[in-house]
Amino acid sequence: MNAYRELSQQLGDLMALEEVLGLLQWDQEIAMPAGAIDARGRHVATLSVLQQERWCSPRLGELLGLLHSDDTLAAVEKANVREALREHHKAVKLPTELVRRWGERTVAGHEIWVKARKAKDFSLFAPVLQELIDLAKQKAAILGPDQPAYDVLIDDFEPGMTMARLDLVFEPLKAFLIPLIAQVRQRQAQPGLPDVAFLTHPVPAAKQREVGEKLVRAMGFDFDHGRLDTAVHPFCGGAGPSDVRITTRYNENSWCQSLMAMIHETGHALYEQGRNLDLASQPVSRARSMGVHESQSLLWEKQLGQGADFWRARYPQLQQDYPFLQQVSFDDFVYGLNYVDLNNFIRTEADELTYPLHVILRYELERDLFSGKLAVADLPAAWNQKMQDYLGITPPDAALGCLQDVHWSAGLFGYFPCYTLGALYAAQLFQTAVAQTPGLVADLQAGNLAPLLAWLRAHIHQVGSQYVTDELITRATGRPLDPHAFIAYAGRKYRALLNLDSFGL
Ligand code: ZN
Repeated sequence: MNAYRELSQQLGDLMALEEVLGLLQWDQEIAMPAGAIDARGRHVATLSVLQQERWCSPRLGELLGLLHSDDTLAAVEKANVREALREHHKAVKLPTELVRRWGERTVAGHEIWVKARKAKDFSLFAPVLQELIDLAKQKAAILGPDQPAYDVLIDDFEPGMTMARLDLVFEPLKAFLIPLIAQVRQRQAQPGLPDVAFLTHPVPAAKQREVGEKLVRAMGFDFDHGRLDTAVHPFCGGAGPSDVRITTRYNENSWCQSLMAMIHETGHALYEQGRNLDLASQPVSRARSMGVHESQSLLWEKQLGQGADFWRARYPQLQQDYPFLQQVSFDDFVYGLNYVDLNNFIRTEADELTYPLHVILRYELERDLFSGKLAVADLPAAWNQKMQDYLGITPPDAALGCLQDVHWSAGLFGYFPCYTLGALYAAQLFQTAVAQTPGLVADLQAGNLAPLLAWLRAHIHQVGSQYVTDELITRATGRPLDPHAFIAYAGRKYRALLNLDSFGL
């Protein structure tokens, strides 16, 4: 058999295993009876071992070695080999004992973190956090002996990204956001801003589901190849592009939260459903990175779903669905969608302006923990100092401070930057889509989302992992990652929403 065809078959098996694991994970969160947890643990462990063995198989290594330097392959085939080689290398390099220990300590880490957060006591969590950092350093030293550990860790989530690049992007963002937030604080102390009580008007869950589902359909989510369910923490999962499963949660006193979560997860889902189906069983069809995935959810949720253009044609329908909005003017509604709560400590509840600072704070702490500049014991104090410096508030306890996120307990070091990279890519992509598509804004204002989806399909979804992230973004937008699209967008939007200029702020 032709070597590339043999490789494709092997990779197809690996992708199938990955999709089955995705389905089991969805099932565990949504449908599995609690008593099945031990059996499920065995199922997942067995499949994970199979997956690891297949990625390490000597024959796969031979095929990849052979094809890696084969210049007769088409560009997309070469990209497929490149993507597979990355995973093969990671799989063969890491010793089984380290992988086993990592799995064990992250499970323990999660349990300990839950207890520590409940007790608001960081000292309970500190020892296991130190262990996880040490293990992550060992992993990094094996995978990238010539690189700083943290750079190797970021690569798991955002291939090609480094601290040097992140600093170049995050510094201008900080320099823009910190003074702007101070101005917003001053403005909020003045009278004359709209009342946002309508955001907490009670709405039954069933009604929220009905309204949200209409929107999910309007965005182009394909229910023949997907589902919408309820979960404790909203996510997008499933088993590949033909079976994409999104979830949301309904808080009866916060209808806007479930609506925005549905738009967000649908943004992720459209990326998955839009993958190139001819290549769906191959790594090259997969979403490019965590940051690019987040760009799709944030583009729909923030750039669009919290903007006036998107709601222009839809607001009358929403007012019919939610009659209490009949008293709320369109401008006040849009202001409410973008309300900046400057006394909020929690990243996941943050608005577009404060969110990037929550992320940058975590990035800087992770970077310093891995370089040895910051000791684990000093983490709570360093966290609180940065919260004060960046957002002007100090958390009253560790549960609202450095124990609030699940990521570190799961050993996900290097993940946080992807959230803000996503916001930056989203601004850059949306700006380009508008510039390249005549009449796009008018279409959006009229409620027609198809031209925007078509642009995203062509430039991001169908492309998958054919290019590395920099090349993907440069091909789509004409330039590599650049924070200034977001800075211009956020400055324009929030200065207008809060009327800052007329207050001399
Ligand atoms: Zn997301």
